[in-house]
Amino acid sequence: MDVRVGDVLELKKEHPCGSKRWQVLRVGMDFKLRCEGCGHELMLPRSKVEKSIKKILRTGEENA
Ligand SMILES: [Zn+2]
Repeated sequence: MDVRVGDVLELKKEHPCGSKRWQVLRVGMDFKLRCEGCGHELMLPRSKVEKSIKKILRTGEENA
C-alpha cells in the first residue's frame, strides 16, 4: 500500500477522542501518526497500520 508523508489515513478503529483520522508524519518500518482529533502522536509498525487503513485521504498533491 502506498502511504506517503502528509497523507491522512482513515482507520477502521477510532481513537478514544472520537477521531478516525490520522496524519502521516513519517513512514518507514514504523509509521508515525498524529491524531487529527486530539493531536496525540504514536508510532506503529507498518504492517499493523496497513491492516487498519480504511482509506487514504490525499488532499494536497504537492506539485512544485
Ligand atoms: Zn485522538
